[in-house]
Amino acid sequence: MARVLFINGGSEGHINPTIGVVQELIARGEEVVYFCVEAFRERMEKTGATVRTFDDQKFIKAFISGGRNYLLERINGLLLTADVVIPTVLEQIRGEHFDYIIHDSMFGCGHQLAQILKLPAISSCTSFAQTKASFDQMLEPFYTKVPAEITKPIIDTYHSLTARVKEKYDVEIHSPYEVFCNPAPLTIVYTPREFQPDGEAFDPSYKFVGPSIASRAASENFDLSTIKGKHPIYISLGTVFNQAIDFYKLCFEALGDTDHTIVMSVGKRTQISDLGEIPDNFIVKNYVPQTDVLQYTALFITHGGMNSANEGLYYGVPLIVIPQSADQPIIAGQVANLGAGMTLQMQSLTAPQLREAVAHVLSRSTFKQAAAELKESFRSSGGFRQAVDEIIEFSRQHRR
Ligand code: UDP
Repeated sequence: MARVLFINGGSEGHINPTIGVVQELIARGEEVVYFCVEAFRERMEKTGATVRTFDDQKFIKAFISGGRNYLLERINGLLLTADVVIPTVLEQIRGEHFDYIIHDSMFGCGHQLAQILKLPAISSCTSFAQTKASFDQMLEPFYTKVPAEITKPIIDTYHSLTARVKEKYDVEIHSPYEVFCNPAPLTIVYTPREFQPDGEAFDPSYKFVGPSIASRAASENFDLSTIKGKHPIYISLGTVFNQAIDFYKLCFEALGDTDHTIVMSVGKRTQISDLGEIPDNFIVKNYVPQTDVLQYTALFITHGGMNSANEGLYYGVPLIVIPQSADQPIIAGQVANLGAGMTLQMQSLTAPQLREAVAHVLSRSTFKQAAAELKESFRSSGGFRQAVDEIIEFSRQHRR
């Protein structure tokens, strides 16, 4: 049995794929100490892990205070979380032995912690993976196209923050890539190589295991018998970019009082009473058991979060992707390229356009067929069991 230190952050999208991995690690005899924010304690404790937390408010405040407009600002935000995460993790594990660390590919300063603790490291990548070259290409316009009076203070902040990390934790940060992508000798990516843009560019240290979908023990209040056999349309903008009252009302206008049964998840921060009258054919909830609902779904209207896209395709459901932010436009592009759905733009979206898009995707069998073909590769990639095979093999090779 090995002792595993698992470092994550605080959002559904980064936590959910790790549930199956942690359950499986524990089933195979590993002991897991899992760091995240308090909100996910219950969910992660149900896996059998020992859960320890850091301050979510301080964490979010630090991340956001880096700025949101440019990628390097978000990198500065991640660097600012170092002082929220690193000291408390070191304090809470003082005197304990770990055999290896698994860390999120974005949040939790895992790359830095792995170096401080000198542990063999595995990165848990819940989005598309990035090579250093593809990441540098993404960052390049900031250096070449944005005026110097904007870039200079951001670059100066980056240098002072990396110097501070060096001084406080004795960790050298060599590039923004290290901060944003937390590379490691083994990276688990929760999508198949077929879905990853430029999938062939990744060396064998990247393991594309496909969606990691385990039963989620969190208490979820939804009567699945109300949608069985009804081939519903499921609408969700995920858990982050989901405060979109106008969009939800537009969905009522487009699809209300039709023959379709619609399940719509509006997020925990939306007051359902603010949506006005709900058409009879809509089931509106703040949160639904998505992976259960998808098993009955004919069409998924999604913001194109990585997990939502993965989960939809895992169940062979065609998608209409309405990207909001982050990596979602790239995910939307991949879905459209592979023929498993289409993309709409939020800013210019109208109710007739959405209605037509729904009719289009539901009436052409090509979307369903492409989604069904992808389903095969999503399933055959192995999911959390394959992830754990790779992790155990890696830990054997690095046993000290
Ligand atoms: N989710 C869910 N029920 C909901 C909304 C979301 O279970 O009502 C889950 C969904 O299954 C997915 C995660 O929350 O695992 C959302 O992650 P994603 O990467 O799609 O989007 P994000 O929330 O990070 O924008």
